[in-house]
Amino acid sequence: MSQAWDNDKIIRVDMTAQTVSIEDYWQDRKLLGGRALSAKILLEQCDPTCDPLGPDNVLVLAPGTMSGTSAPTSGRISMGCKSPLTGGIKEANAGGNPGQDLIKLGYRAVIVTGQPADMEKRWGLKISADTVELVAADEYKGMWNYACCEKLFADQPKSASAISIGPAGEMMLKGASIACTDSDRARRPARQAARGGVGAVMGSKCLKWVLIDPGKTSLRRPADRKGFARYMKQFSKDYLGSRHNNFKYGTSAVVPTANMLHTFPWKNRTEGRNPHFEGLDGAKINASFETRGGEMHNCMTGCIVKCSNIVHDKDGNYKTSALEFETLTLLGSCCDINNWEDVADLDRLCDELGLDTIETGAAIAVYMDSGGMAWGDAEGAKKLLSEEIANGTELGRNIGNGALSIGTVRKHHRIPVAKGQGMPAWDPRPLKATGITYASSAMGADHTAGLVIDPQISGEAAAVASQEIQIINAICDSTGFCMFLGPSITKPDSFTPRFLARRSPASRSPPSVGNVWSTNGRLTIALASPPLTTIWRHVCARKGSDPITRSCSTSQAKSSPWSRCANRRPRNSTPSRPLANSVAGAGGLHCFPVRPPRYLGLILRLEAWYQSLYFSHACQNSAKYSPTVPTRVFSGCGRCTIRRLISQRPSINT
Ligand code: SF4
Repeated sequence: MSQAWDNDKIIRVDMTAQTVSIEDYWQDRKLLGGRALSAKILLEQCDPTCDPLGPDNVLVLAPGTMSGTSAPTSGRISMGCKSPLTGGIKEANAGGNPGQDLIKLGYRAVIVTGQPADMEKRWGLKISADTVELVAADEYKGMWNYACCEKLFADQPKSASAISIGPAGEMMLKGASIACTDSDRARRPARQAARGGVGAVMGSKCLKWVLIDPGKTSLRRPADRKGFARYMKQFSKDYLGSRHNNFKYGTSAVVPTANMLHTFPWKNRTEGRNPHFEGLDGAKINASFETRGGEMHNCMTGCIVKCSNIVHDKDGNYKTSALEFETLTLLGSCCDINNWEDVADLDRLCDELGLDTIETGAAIAVYMDSGGMAWGDAEGAKKLLSEEIANGTELGRNIGNGALSIGTVRKHHRIPVAKGQGMPAWDPRPLKATGITYASSAMGADHTAGLVIDPQISGEAAAVASQEIQIINAICDSTGFCMFLGPSITKPDSFTPRFLARRSPASRSPPSVGNVWSTNGRLTIALASPPLTTIWRHVCARKGSDPITRSCSTSQAKSSPWSRCANRRPRNSTPSRPLANSVAGAGGLHCFPVRPPRYLGLILRLEAWYQSLYFSHACQNSAKYSPTVPTRVFSGCGRCTIRRLISQRPSINT
């Protein structure tokens, strides 16, 4: 019997010849989607030594495997390519509706290759049930994202969604993002695949937008319809009954907690706490809903978490969405801009120009720290965006190219980046396990690669925690589930067998994380030998305990909703089917020993990375960061080793 996915296709767009072809999807890769699929395609089809902004880079737009189904919170899309910012493989992930619309039409990926000879022209890709065509889009050249999408939708049905880049992407600035329109009736380009400069790669292809109209196409049908519906209902009920409170006020609500944990960086990270944090507290944003309007909503159809806020101005008019914790930290606290309304303006400008708020905030903070502008100059920061970057001035380009770019030009001594990418809000000094993610993930300083918010954790346990969450996030990014669904390793994967009516579907999946590392390895920027996945395989072969069910030793972790321990199954629950394999890796990732001896080797191998990271000076075991210690990337102080670094507990008074 023919099943869902049997007739799937991919769209291949050759921008050199301006041609489009439709190809059958690989039958042996049915279980690959999102980040796993883009990693596989890049590994096979992209020269890792290519110029990221040249014709040989490949841009892959790939919805997750569960996107387009009725599984809750599962419709995300991954944008994969070689990053112009890190120089390695990159995946940036976004909500909104384009992912599910694309896969509902049966398209598992759009692969964009080549580069037009005339770089002044602009192109748009129209996808519907009847046709896929590349059309001239010169009239959209230079348009800001909101205006661009408004114009695009003017003659389109209400079912359509769009992917677009702003002027930053067109200028190929390394901090450029790719925007996806959200599920709101207004279909705003507010959901950004932000990190790694993926927008610059789309700009280098002269592809201004992708318009997708699923028409009346229905959701993808599971083979076991009743079983799938039953499981989905129970899953949603369990989620709403247990974890929903964690995210229902959005990520901005975490500001006070992050400040308490010394991971709300202030003034280009010279302090971990901001004395004026109240002005950026998400509670103020939520309180504004009553008087101004605005609300929490789901950024994509089918999301039951609804963590995205819609922010209005004083007159009750729409200003931006979503104003997230990361944005409040980087464009706010890091620049000493301590009023959430100013940050909302900056967030809107970034969305309009198509810029990553993390990279842009980090760059402006470096600019301020190096004396280019006064701390807290909100109006000056807005002008930097609306005039300097929008008009492509030299200063604007240096800031739009990210923290490392502006810091290098200004010869500044403190540039908080890892692998060329600006540090997110979650700081690796108090959060050692998250630091290990920044050091060991191919994604560089990217908290969505594996965030562990637990300042108590250090040593080998930190390496284990980082590894676990990196696997979980790889699964989320590959299946299309949003990480805010609060997944364990087993949860996202548990939908697949019911969808395909197979017992152990993921066992045939090649490892996405392995592909990620292989790609970087061919580029010779993977410093680990052997890479993490190889080590995981050795560790897993030892058949140890399941980290998801093991007990947690710290009282802080037990009570903290942010702790990885929140992912534990309840004690009285039935042990789940072991995750034999997953899109995150081959070899059986379900069993990690609590203290795998081989991690010592891993930790020592990571030493070289840590030496190259900006926070290597943190060996003074202090939560008070010295502004005088050089923190420039690749200029590690050389005084500490990884063993000392990660075995220290931060001296934090909470
Ligand atoms: S949880 Fe939040 S970010 Fe994730 S899909 Fe839902 S609204 Fe979007």
